[in-house]
Amino acid sequence: TASKEGKVFIKALFDYDPKEDKAIPCKEAGLSFRKGDILQIMSQDDVTWWQAKHEGDANPRAGLIPSKHFQERRLALRRPEIVVQPLKLSNRKSSGFRRSFRLSRKDKKTNKSMYECKKSDQYDTADVPTYEEVMPYRRQAHEKYRLVVLVGPVGVGLNELKRKLLISDTQHYGVTVPHTTRARRSQESDGVEYIFISKHLFETDVQNNKFIEYGEYKNNYYGTSIDSVRSVLAKNKVCLLDVQPHTVKHLRTLEFKPYVIFIKPPSIERLRETRKNAKIISSRDDQGTAKPFTEEDFQEMIKSAQIMESQYGHLFDKIIINDDLTVAFNELKTTFDKLETDTHWVPVSWLH
Ligand code: 5GP
Repeated sequence: TASKEGKVFIKALFDYDPKEDKAIPCKEAGLSFRKGDILQIMSQDDVTWWQAKHEGDANPRAGLIPSKHFQERRLALRRPEIVVQPLKLSNRKSSGFRRSFRLSRKDKKTNKSMYECKKSDQYDTADVPTYEEVMPYRRQAHEKYRLVVLVGPVGVGLNELKRKLLISDTQHYGVTVPHTTRARRSQESDGVEYIFISKHLFETDVQNNKFIEYGEYKNNYYGTSIDSVRSVLAKNKVCLLDVQPHTVKHLRTLEFKPYVIFIKPPSIERLRETRKNAKIISSRDDQGTAKPFTEEDFQEMIKSAQIMESQYGHLFDKIIINDDLTVAFNELKTTFDKLETDTHWVPVSWLH
């Protein structure tokens, strides 16, 4: 792991251009990066400006990047709904970058809290995304597959992609069976279309945090349980899960090691061309019947995708644009193949 080599890597959760940064002491010394880039930390001796380089960059010259705490603080100042707690020395041990903090020489000399980093659980990184410490991970042959989470706006074609993937290799891919409280229909069997349970049991399970997500539809509950994901993984299958992006943070554990794929719509022009003969079950339609796409559906899809990307983009491992379905499907397939063979960057926090 990264720590064994004494190297510290972080994933940038925001775009940074030093030329646009009024606070940086020297713009030429800054390192620009994009959301999702992996950076290697070269020095954290300064409270405000860290030194880093792009991972794998042969050039040993490091550039300045805003420190986690500095970036968090100035972002929070712009967003008054986020409360920044005063920091205590004792908090340092539970900070996100524990090892890197211990490496600080200045810290020892002055015996002062150089890095006023607060407990990572004091607020949600979704509120102030800055950096996340990561390490390389490669799945070993005996290990369970990583959970694959698909997110995207209504109508983008996520279900179609999921279906294509499932029928391409039914032995390899699996989906969860949802729970419902509605009565079983004659052609349905328990455990196949749904797991049928009573309202009382459903409510108890909700209380006990057994569900990843749940909702109500026509006076019945529907939901996806954590155990239903486990049972797919236990069959040694890749579990495909599509959920609202806000649920992703609860799934980010060592057990699931989720790999999050965002299915993104193309431009509105391309949507009009490619979805000419397709149908959508609009979120505005109470009946749930599929109808041809309207201009409003396209606009809603694009707007919803923009909101998802700006709020949860830092949780996405991969973005696939579903312009042409076949092209998107092939890209998805390649992504899955790489997921099983290549080394990927995963949060260090999964180990704690
Ligand atoms: P039906 O009762 O006709 O099988 O399904 C009714 C609705 O329940 C569907 O429109 C579907 O969107 C919703 N539903 C099915 N499974 C789940 C689930 O796991 N979670 C949530 N929130 N809704 C579901």
